[in-house]
Amino acid sequence: MGRIANGRLLSDIFYLVNSYEKSKQLHARASRVIPGGVNSPVRAFKSVSCDPPYVVKGKGAYIWDADGNQYIDYVGSWGPLILGHAHPEVVQAVDRANHDGASFGACTPVEAELAEAVIEAFPSLKKVRFVSSGTEATMSALRVARAFTGRKYIVKFEGCYHGHADSLLVKAGSGVATLGIPGSAGVLEEQAQFTLALPFNDPAAVEQTFEKYKKLIACVIVEPVVGNMGCVPPARGYLHFLREITQKHGAVLIFDEVMTGFRLSFGGAQQLYGIRPDMTTLGKIIGGGLPVGAYGGNLDIMNMVAPIGPVYQAGTLSGNPLAMAAGLAMLKHLKNHPEIYEQLEQNTAELVNGVLQVARKKGVELSANQVGSMFTWFFQSGEVRDWDTASKSDTQAFAKFHRGMLDRGVYLPPSQYEAIFVSAAHTREDIQKAVQAAEQSL
Ligand SMILES: *Cc1c(COP(=O)(O)O)cnc(C)c1O
Repeated sequence: MGRIANGRLLSDIFYLVNSYEKSKQLHARASRVIPGGVNSPVRAFKSVSCDPPYVVKGKGAYIWDADGNQYIDYVGSWGPLILGHAHPEVVQAVDRANHDGASFGACTPVEAELAEAVIEAFPSLKKVRFVSSGTEATMSALRVARAFTGRKYIVKFEGCYHGHADSLLVKAGSGVATLGIPGSAGVLEEQAQFTLALPFNDPAAVEQTFEKYKKLIACVIVEPVVGNMGCVPPARGYLHFLREITQKHGAVLIFDEVMTGFRLSFGGAQQLYGIRPDMTTLGKIIGGGLPVGAYGGNLDIMNMVAPIGPVYQAGTLSGNPLAMAAGLAMLKHLKNHPEIYEQLEQNTAELVNGVLQVARKKGVELSANQVGSMFTWFFQSGEVRDWDTASKSDTQAFAKFHRGMLDRGVYLPPSQYEAIFVSAAHTREDIQKAVQAAEQSL
């Protein structure tokens, strides 16, 4: 290893000659027939100004791209893959189900099996309905909450992302924040007028809003640990406060645990913080990598749903046998290996703190939030507790870091405002490798 004229280390050169040529070609081809070449905006790597690698294979903690580059994957399909890629028990369950027919649009036994597994893990749920995405889960939960209360307004928090339903695309995090747009074109004022977006972790804002709108608020929907403006935990007592104030005003408290469910603990954030919301939305992990979402709540609320109640909600592929089988295999494995969560938290802390130390040594301003196996490094020195503080991050510095890590075989979410995930497939060696890559990328 030696220094060359432009100041780059030879080891850097070695990585930089890694070719992304095939991915580039594939992206050009896709971009001709798919908007931006992608089926979900953040995948385009726009905010880190490079073309996205095209993934051709995943196994355990690793993925490979079309050019043969190998990466340690810290995205995990944005949350679902808590056991890593192509986990043998999940693969086998899906293979078996597929062999017997991929879809019937009819009742299958595995639906109740997965529902029972979810309800057992989340005591606040007495019934669940399966859908095909997190977006559908939150969209449906709002409809049910409005029907149940007979009220119009919903309260959400700035920087929280609950999928792309019209009434929820107001000050949403995730890709909306990444692209720096306030909401979305095509969402009518009329559709967003009953959405009240408040700062997260600010009890006074919620109190004032209930004071003003009183009995007009149907529900408060919240990511109990936010993942979609980067990882932002609730301040001490904040979730209890939300529980109390919604109860007092007869509004439905919805925990959107699409990301945190089965991730922060087997029973999600509500188990971790000891809170029982009225409704919960789930997704990601419960599908084991296949498209699944779910919403649930107590009997009074869930008996509002058709065909036993007046709230219509349906889906051709809802409760799909392959998706149910994948989810069930994953939940069974997690239930049988409760030690996973402890291990995940330790490995994650080692990664988070390892890179923070490197940053300190190099004088790079970096802070971090971690809860269990989800975390974010924010490129700033301040504490991040809501969208206003999150958005102070140096996204250019993040983009440079991201590219450096990618070139060194570490695959991170291509946005400052997304959570990073560690899976049970990551070894301590994978963690140490990522810290070493950060030494050269910060
Ligand atoms: C990912 C996510 C959603 C949306 O789920 P999709 O399956 O992408 O529609 C909703 N809420 C939260 C908290 C999420 O993280």
